[in-house]
Amino acid sequence: MTRKMRRFAIGALAITCFVQSAHAEWVRRVTDGIMGTRITVELWSDDREKAESAIDAVLDEMRHIDETMSTYKPTSEISLVNARAADGPMHIGKELFDLLVTSKQYSELTDGAFDITYASVGYMYDFRKHIRPSEDQIGKALPAVNYRHVLLDPRNQTVKFTQKGVRIDLGGIAKGYSVDCGIDVLKARGFTRAYVSAGGDSRIIGDRFGKPWMVGIRDPRKGEGEVITRIPLVDAAISTSGDYERFFDEDGVRYHHIIDPHTGHSASKVRSATVIGPYAIRTDGLSKTAFVLGPEKAMEIYNRIDDIDAIIVKLDGTVIYSKGIEPAH
Ligand code: ADP
Ligand code: MG
Repeated sequence: MTRKMRRFAIGALAITCFVQSAHAEWVRRVTDGIMGTRITVELWSDDREKAESAIDAVLDEMRHIDETMSTYKPTSEISLVNARAADGPMHIGKELFDLLVTSKQYSELTDGAFDITYASVGYMYDFRKHIRPSEDQIGKALPAVNYRHVLLDPRNQTVKFTQKGVRIDLGGIAKGYSVDCGIDVLKARGFTRAYVSAGGDSRIIGDRFGKPWMVGIRDPRKGEGEVITRIPLVDAAISTSGDYERFFDEDGVRYHHIIDPHTGHSASKVRSATVIGPYAIRTDGLSKTAFVLGPEKAMEIYNRIDDIDAIIVKLDGTVIYSKGIEPAH
């Protein structure tokens, strides 16, 4: 059985009989404001105190990642990189270095659709304030967008930008990474059934006593809570990117937070893309691809990767599925 099949082979679990302790319960906490998004942690525990302290530890871990990786914080390590890395090689911490290496791998995997240097243009957008750069500003900044401008030296653990004007932003992968870190915190404390999510990125360990976790995929043109489908998941991560997350409409055009590295404009080839896989860093890194490359090309990439499945809502509202989860007709 492949890993992909195992994730969905939940039927077999239903016949397993679990003995639940009388005092055990699902403990859930929802917190706003870390990484600018909503964090949800839910776990099964027979000790309320241990559960609450584990959730505290998950949130601490996420705050720490936010401190290092947020470009909104002028003192974060990544902000220092943006300020200095064009001047010469700059030594950075292992965690940030590893994430930059992973980001580069996702750029290569997605034909450049995922590109953290999108920020060289992206920093000029403010979706809350309905601000976008002019064509002239985009034209001037666009040459700085290219993941190949980020030089990483593993021996010295340094980063260097090949030219001025290059900026990086990990908003497209840091939440997935932090979800995986959160799950690691829970696993290390012995939890075997849990759910951690940060915005559109979630990961699950274990099942819900013979049943899968049911994760809804939002209908991109309806309100929160309106779903196009629910996916049963066990031991899996799931990320959804949507053009409804951070956006504004002007003269019939939707400007939103996923940027096409080739044009500097919002990447608008789909309404939403959901990616399912083993790790949230992976599903987060891949969920933006469909916006840039379009549904067919992106699905080709998703189908090529063994441990990935995907659901894409196209511009006309039709939904397409990767080979592993195509519904029966
Ligand atoms: P969320 O932030 O809710 O998890 P996504 O996973 O869809 O949403 O990520 C969107 C974020 O990805 C944007 O806010 C921006 O920080 C970043 N981003 C935008 N365009 C790109 C791109 N082409 N490559 C990598 N990251 C991007
Ligand atoms: Mg994400």
